Amino acid sequence: MEDNEKNQRSFGRHIVQTSSDISFCAGCNACGIVCSLVHDGVVGPSYNRIFMEKGTQSMVTVIHTCQQCADHPCYEACARKDQAMCLDENGTVFINDDFCIGCKRCIKACVFDPPRINYVKSTDKTKRKAKKCDLCHTRLEGPACVQYCQVSCLKLS
Ligand code: SF4
Ligand code: SF4
Repeated sequence: MEDNEKNQRSFGRHIVQTSSDISFCAGCNACGIVCSLVHDGVVGPSYNRIFMEKGTQSMVTVIHTCQQCADHPCYEACARKDQAMCLDENGTVFINDDFCIGCKRCIKACVFDPPRINYVKSTDKTKRKAKKCDLCHTRLEGPACVQYCQVSCLKLS
């Protein structure tokens, strides 16, 4: 997405990294690991809902997460809107795995590049699922990635 288009969008509360220029992010992926563990009980790249871009020369790691767009195009595009992809009372978009058919319409609708929605591939069609950050909205302790970041470089905007 172009910078000016990004500046014109409005976002809900989402996970942010302390300024990547000064961030202490070690690129350890503890955030991604704990995220998939608390949601799915497994660890694997396709289960991540928080994405890291490691600068090979700069050694700076930039964290990318769902920005919870106010117009939530992923939710609007869902083939099973309000069943698979839902909105909670705070406007947070979350996925109910039981109803997700893995059609990827939400991923194609994501305005970010790369999309902030992940995808579990499987030869078994019933196991193909989209995965996105839901701000751990049912977790009493709040976002697990924030809680378990060892250098406290993540927070809720
Ligand atoms: S992959 Fe799942 S959440 Fe995404 S549009 Fe299809 S049914 Fe909805
Ligand atoms: S807030 Fe929760 S769902 Fe979102 S990236 Fe962090 S751990 Fe994952």
